[in-house]
Amino acid sequence: MHIKSIKELALEPGSRVFIRCDFNVPLDEYGNITDDRRIRAALPTIRYCLDHDCKVILASHLGRPKGFDPKYSLKPVAKRLHTLLKQEIAMAEDVIGEDAKAKVESLQDGEVLLLENLRFEPGETKNDPKFAKELSQFGEFYINDAFGVSHRAHASVEAITKYYDEDHKAAGFLLLKEIKYLYKLLENPTRPFMAIIGGSKVSSKLGALINLLPKVDKMIIGGGMAFTFLKALGEEVGKSLVEDDLVDEARNIMEEAKKLGVKLYLPVDFVVAPKFSEDAPVKFVTFKEIPNDWMGLDIGLASTRLFREALNDVQTILWNGPMGVFEMDKFARGSIKLANYVAESYATKIIGGGDTASLISKAGVDDEMTFISTGGGASLELLEGKELPGIKALMVEDQQ
Ligand code: AMP
Repeated sequence: MHIKSIKELALEPGSRVFIRCDFNVPLDEYGNITDDRRIRAALPTIRYCLDHDCKVILASHLGRPKGFDPKYSLKPVAKRLHTLLKQEIAMAEDVIGEDAKAKVESLQDGEVLLLENLRFEPGETKNDPKFAKELSQFGEFYINDAFGVSHRAHASVEAITKYYDEDHKAAGFLLLKEIKYLYKLLENPTRPFMAIIGGSKVSSKLGALINLLPKVDKMIIGGGMAFTFLKALGEEVGKSLVEDDLVDEARNIMEEAKKLGVKLYLPVDFVVAPKFSEDAPVKFVTFKEIPNDWMGLDIGLASTRLFREALNDVQTILWNGPMGVFEMDKFARGSIKLANYVAESYATKIIGGGDTASLISKAGVDDEMTFISTGGGASLELLEGKELPGIKALMVEDQQ
């Protein structure tokens, strides 16, 4: 089985292609796009269809509107697409209404139409077949290039695929790239292979930890989740974030790592503060000296040096989750230092989306990374070894 690629479809001049994109970009209070990475990531697929003189219909969600809400309109996205593609982008006033239908009907070869926010229609998140069928009537071909929502069984991701046969549905270039780096490469990595797992909680990364452990040679555990592991080792962690119900699980993971011969690294020092705040005083302490009523909010200098040593001989790095509360400058240094060390490495470097992608951007080392995933939740589910509904729907038998 393999996922069908857009290149395997017989696109012709005039073909109507419906592309599910992930244009769920952050906007500031004036409605300006503050990070257009997801829009730029969709361009190769759109350009491919335009190069084939197709009629391109784009669809996406933005935010979590409950029904029609102009605040969540995709109009700013249409504007940015216009700038990036250097051509007119027609914008529908609705999703499957009269305006959308009329604009699809009048679309010419090589033109692009963007539908309004899919989540203005309640059928989208309900995976409603009726809504999906209406959407499917806009395109003779269906392309999923929205990796960020491929873990959701939503109408434009899952139900819609039922209305296309194998020759008329496929994955776009972005989706294919995400699968290549987050799934295929991890199945057969160049070794030594290191996973760096951070973020706030063990609970949100437990599935990924368990799935990755047998695949890696080394693993760094940082961020808030490290404290549950330190507690499992009998250390005092003060007021740091701990999930008491997962202390045993953390112990099991460490024992399993030992059995598998995986080298597991935990931070050895921390930046601690008495409260979760930018204006709190800070101290730099070893893991043996966290004061009772203080909390660890970043890893310390000794930890970053230790991790740098561990990185030395590594050939593949997968990083998901920051080492500290990097949103506050005071607690960002550990994550940023590590980002720079990772950037210096000659390994294949894969960044697992969401917060880690923002961190890499804050560190200014985006260009040094081999691949930065555009999906947070979706990338985590892929790392957990789960089958994503949007991907499953596009799998086909290999030809003999
Ligand atoms: P996640 O979404 O699980 O990857 O977690 C990312 C969040 O973890 C970021 O917003 C960080 O601020 C937070 N985080 C990282 N380290 C810590 C820590 N030591 N204590 C509390 N939160 C943390």
